[in-house]
Amino acid sequence: MESALTARDRVGVQDFVLLENYTSEAAFIENLRKRFKENLIYTYIGSVLVSVNPYKELEIYNKNHMERYRGVNFYEVSPHIYAVADNSYRSMRTERKDQCILISGESGAGKTEASKKILQYYAITCPASEHVQTIKDRLLQSNPVLEAFGNAKTLRNDNSSRFGKYMDIQFDFKGAPVGGHIINYLLEKSRVVHQNHGERNFHIFYQLIEGGEEDLLRRLGLERNPQQYQYLVKVNGLALHVFFWDNCLLNIIASVLHLGNVQYGGEEGSACITSDTQIKYLARLLGVNGAVLTEALTHKKITAKGEEVSLQPEASSARDALSKAVYGRTFTWLVNKINCSLSNKSYSVIGLLDIYGFEVFQNNSFEQFCINYCNEKLQQLFIELTLKSEQEEYEAEGITWEPVQYFNNKIICDLVEEKFKGIISILDEECLRPGDASDMTFLEKLEDTLGGHPHFVTHKLADGKTRKVMGRDEFRLQHYAGDVNYNVNGFLDKNNDLLFRNLKEVMCMSENSILTQCFDKEELSDKKRPETAATQFKTSLAKLMEILMSKEPSYVRCIKPNDSKQSGRFDEVLIRHQVKYLGLMENLRVRRAGFAYRRRYEVFLQRYKSLCPATWPNWQGKLSDGVSTLVKHLGYKPEEYKMGRSKIFIRFPKTLFATEDALETR
Ligand code: ADP
Ligand code: MG
Repeated sequence: MESALTARDRVGVQDFVLLENYTSEAAFIENLRKRFKENLIYTYIGSVLVSVNPYKELEIYNKNHMERYRGVNFYEVSPHIYAVADNSYRSMRTERKDQCILISGESGAGKTEASKKILQYYAITCPASEHVQTIKDRLLQSNPVLEAFGNAKTLRNDNSSRFGKYMDIQFDFKGAPVGGHIINYLLEKSRVVHQNHGERNFHIFYQLIEGGEEDLLRRLGLERNPQQYQYLVKVNGLALHVFFWDNCLLNIIASVLHLGNVQYGGEEGSACITSDTQIKYLARLLGVNGAVLTEALTHKKITAKGEEVSLQPEASSARDALSKAVYGRTFTWLVNKINCSLSNKSYSVIGLLDIYGFEVFQNNSFEQFCINYCNEKLQQLFIELTLKSEQEEYEAEGITWEPVQYFNNKIICDLVEEKFKGIISILDEECLRPGDASDMTFLEKLEDTLGGHPHFVTHKLADGKTRKVMGRDEFRLQHYAGDVNYNVNGFLDKNNDLLFRNLKEVMCMSENSILTQCFDKEELSDKKRPETAATQFKTSLAKLMEILMSKEPSYVRCIKPNDSKQSGRFDEVLIRHQVKYLGLMENLRVRRAGFAYRRRYEVFLQRYKSLCPATWPNWQGKLSDGVSTLVKHLGYKPEEYKMGRSKIFIRFPKTLFATEDALETR
């Protein structure tokens, strides 16, 4: 039989805290690699689960596996997403505290799959009644519906979620799932009107065109061929699942495609629509008057009295703004609709957060700025909660707390979100300022206000010279995960996210029963400007932080092994980046700062009692005395461990390994 020691050599350690050289990134990556080669995609850092996308189906998700993790402690079985799910569930049940599971990682790392596996685990293992079965089905079905509207094929992921998602799974007092509630974040609306080379629009458009019945397509005025549509690109034979929707929703999806095909012509200074075929369909599908729609697609009001000027040359961007607004608001409507069918009174909840990880591209814009800001906030939460819980555990156990040095990224969160002098405030100010405000004046304001900030950099140097490596239209933020340059082009427009008043007016007159819920007439009378995109996002993030703070968190950190969606390929450079962005080394350092290993006395004694005649077969006295006797018999030195109130804390992995090996060779 293979001894524990050689097994460790081959498959690595299942918890990074057991790495001898825990500050070495190379050792960390080597451990990941060993395990990945053996199809062991899961590894812990204490209670944090690190997962590497295998890009192939592994036989580790069937019912038997689920059973194996039910009610079992972390370290008794190999690391698994089910262990995290089960642990949260048990904490919820025994401690009566709401839980949340935060899943992070870059696009394609396996976040959405992880959240689905957790949901499946609860659907299958939790107690159920007849009524509950329908709820379980609905919970599971909400995924494909949202994915149809919110997911798309990208270069990084064939089924990439283009929105952030927080979902509460609601449980009753018996621990049966009874409902759910979803909050969505920052849908990538720009995808509706434009996709980068090799990427596609949202799945739903292709599902409709490829899978819709002839009659339906005729009614919607659509052709089977995606290449007919400016907003779509060629499909490459992905299996598409077709849903049956109500007519209003189908009309909206079709209208977006028609909008994309509205062509402008006309002399300089006046926009006109060259063909009225689309308008005819649009009027019917959107439930609006065709003439009024045409007017709104070609003109804008400039004074309150209603004086209008031609939209030339901005007509097509006004049209695209309408497409984005219609799609984006319909998506929000859909989430609400799902919530109505799912939400229930609940006794306790487990929240699942599946949200975009840190992004660094060649060219980073407003979207990356928002996404990375979100990750700063989550990191902040992670630091506060992890350190807090470490500290609390030491205090509860009566062990002297040894403070850990770590980088607190609050300074970066403040840089982005602080009132008056944070980047978002400055951006909003420029968006509101009449006159010559532009992306470049925004950048100048940033420089003036934040020039000396330790985490903010532009091409300007203090002595008036310029930093050659940076563009004149960029600013750099030194994020906790690394430096990112943001190009300011488009920041103002994207933040304003404006829909011209005439277009809003038309939509408010719509007779489509979904759109009447999406475009509220009050919007027109409201003199106040609508909140900017960044401020809305900031507000929703603040709410999210509150939700998460009130719960007990677990973490799943997902890693993508290569950029080619291939199984078995372990791209070390790529992985090293992610280990950095996910803050895993820091995480490990904090976790290891005090003790590598801790166990409740009864669990420790149960596992190792056979190694000492005094504790075998049963220890009759106090548990802590039993453990004391046991470890003294094993030759533990005083500096190697500490005795808490209910747990033993072991400082070094090698101490534990020696004990484990003694168990093997006994
Ligand atoms: P993310 O949500 O992080 O962008 P996904 O969860 O959509 O990534 O995963 C991308 C793809 O990787 C999935 O479509 C699937 O093919 C594969 N994948 C992810 N996790 C697993 C897993 N645990 N087992 C097998 N394949 C996986
Ligand atoms: Mg996803």
